[in-house]
Amino acid sequence: MGRLDTKVGLITGAGSGIGFETAMLFAKEGAKVVACDVNANALTKAVEKINKAYPDSAIAVTVDVSNEMQVKAAFDEGERVFGKINVVFNNAGIMHGSDDNASSLTPENIWDLTFNINVKGVWWGCKYGIPALRRAGGGSIINTASFVALLGAATPQLAYTASKGAVLAMTRELSVIHARENIRFNALCPGPIRTPLLMDFLNTDEKKERRLVHNPMGRFGEAIEQAYAVVYLASNESTYVTGTEFLVDGGLTAAYVTPT
Ligand code: NAD
Repeated sequence: MGRLDTKVGLITGAGSGIGFETAMLFAKEGAKVVACDVNANALTKAVEKINKAYPDSAIAVTVDVSNEMQVKAAFDEGERVFGKINVVFNNAGIMHGSDDNASSLTPENIWDLTFNINVKGVWWGCKYGIPALRRAGGGSIINTASFVALLGAATPQLAYTASKGAVLAMTRELSVIHARENIRFNALCPGPIRTPLLMDFLNTDEKKERRLVHNPMGRFGEAIEQAYAVVYLASNESTYVTGTEFLVDGGLTAAYVTPT
């Protein structure tokens, strides 16, 4: 018996990192997966790996989450192939290498791009996810925010930080609006995780060390450690859990002085 038997989950950003590990774990736990990503090559390889391990579990749908009609088409395709969608993991996001502070940011390149993907992308996933979940009799929507929605850093990445604050606030409000419809919303707030998104951004030992000194465990998290949390939030084990800032951060937000 899998923890997600009979469920169908749509996952964005499934070609890499947290999204990929979650898609694999969903399949292991018995779910069917509508795996979505803008990177068609990475997505094809990811879905091949999932179907090799768990035959006929996943389909690949190439989607840019900032494009409303492409997101709608992904939900249509998921329902066409698997008959329903019970879980949505709005996880795709970017952290731009030139993200910076208030005075040096350029709106068109970084602010708008980041918000179009990280915020509007989550909104579209909710806009089309909510009616799909209603048709399925309810379900769970998990939106990936971040610990930076809760903590400020002296190493500025203002567009990214503001976008994750928006995801957190949007998720909280949606959880209240839809609480009596058997549709739950939770914001996954990962700490710093060893995926391409963060490791490409922290591209020197010095930049990595600047972060790790504040981390009680003294290490980056792994994508699979987020995937286990998403399976819990997607499953019937969490039917009274909604509207949370679901922190999976190795204690980062609890720390003032860290161990030496
Ligand atoms: P990742 O770069 O490994 O994976 C992100 C995936 O999203 C990639 O496959 C990428 O192609 C896809 N993607 C990017 N833009 C897209 C778009 N417009 N449409 C569809 N897909 C798109 O990164 P990750 O670390 O697994 O990040 C997943 C989520 O977790 C992101 O929302 C990120 O902001 C968030 N997060 C990550 C960390 C971290 O430290 N890695 C911490 C907190 C939150």
